[in-house]
Amino acid sequence: MSILANTSCFHPAWVEIDLSQFQRNLIAIRKRIGSVKFCLPVKANAYGHGLLEIARAAESARVVDFLGVSCLKEGVFLREQGISLPILVFGAFHEDQIDDLIRYQFDVTASSRLKASLLLERCQKQHATCRVHIEVDTGMNRTGMRPETARELLLKLRAHPELQVVGLSSHLATADQPNHPFALQQIETFTRFASEFAHDNLLLHIANSGGVVFYPSSHFNMVRPGLLSYGYFPDGSLDPLQEIAPCFSLKARVSYFKVVGPNAGISYGHLYRTAKQSRIATIPIGYGDGYFRRFSNRGHVLIRGQKYTIAGAVCMDQFMVDLGDGSAYVGDEVVLIGMQGKESIHLQEVASIADTIPYEILCALNDRLTKVYTTPLS
Ligand SMILES: *Cc1c(COP(=O)(O)O)cnc(C)c1O
Repeated sequence: MSILANTSCFHPAWVEIDLSQFQRNLIAIRKRIGSVKFCLPVKANAYGHGLLEIARAAESARVVDFLGVSCLKEGVFLREQGISLPILVFGAFHEDQIDDLIRYQFDVTASSRLKASLLLERCQKQHATCRVHIEVDTGMNRTGMRPETARELLLKLRAHPELQVVGLSSHLATADQPNHPFALQQIETFTRFASEFAHDNLLLHIANSGGVVFYPSSHFNMVRPGLLSYGYFPDGSLDPLQEIAPCFSLKARVSYFKVVGPNAGISYGHLYRTAKQSRIATIPIGYGDGYFRRFSNRGHVLIRGQKYTIAGAVCMDQFMVDLGDGSAYVGDEVVLIGMQGKESIHLQEVASIADTIPYEILCALNDRLTKVYTTPLS
């Protein structure tokens, strides 16, 4: 595995992204969805994996049909950086953003009748066209129109070619577990609604990662798996086929080492005390990097293939580990998420300790951490 740009010298804590594993995930998803279109969510800095690098790797893997972003800003960044895949903006847009949405030729989600008419008005004024996906709320109760409203709008827009309706979308609220009755009900509602427009040749999409993995009847003709593409199953389980796997690791190097006596208080508030004379290692990452203070006395790291618990409070820029009689020296690699030797720390474990979901951990780790990318397959 070769390192494309080893910039970890800029900061002693970094994120490593295995782009070839990421592309293997995309290929594995493509195999499972067959000829259905694949919209890859890259919002929120590609779930903390790096927006541009992930978009480039997706483009070169040639199995993705759309990139999905949450907001205009993310889409504009991708276009300005030369990404040419079609881009679908998922989020409800603000009126001020309409000109740019049209100019950049994004596929736009119309989540209400009002937004659709604002968009139409602007297209008419500019003699421009815009591709829209009508968002139907089938029970997430976040954004989207009621089916009756969507029906009226679809019929009305047939007379207005400036707004080219190319898709119908919805979002599943409970698909992260298999056989959830509400997910089945949403799929049923969407199926019924979409069948009325069977002759319009629309992109029909409702499936997130949970939909892709657990609800084959949710695939329709396009899917939008985010978390799964980055290598995680939505229920925290591992891929039974062992194809889809994480491509994200969080690492650091020991920055300091000392020996302290018994009953020594460690870090702010002395929330931890040594039981005996101990070796203490300092790890240079903290909540200033997005590594939560919540991990104080609870989080784990791997050093020299051994798993240790964090000793005391996580500070803004560093925390300590009690090695007991174990050994570590300044410069040793520390794994906070990922594998080292035979040991591993899975993102799901880390999320559980913080009483949250993997998504939030990935999004929280910020740009003070250098990102190191390994070479993609193609
Ligand atoms: C984020 C998002 C997804 C992806 O969800 P995952 O749970 O990561 O698969 C799909 N659709 C929309 C509209 C989203 O905002």
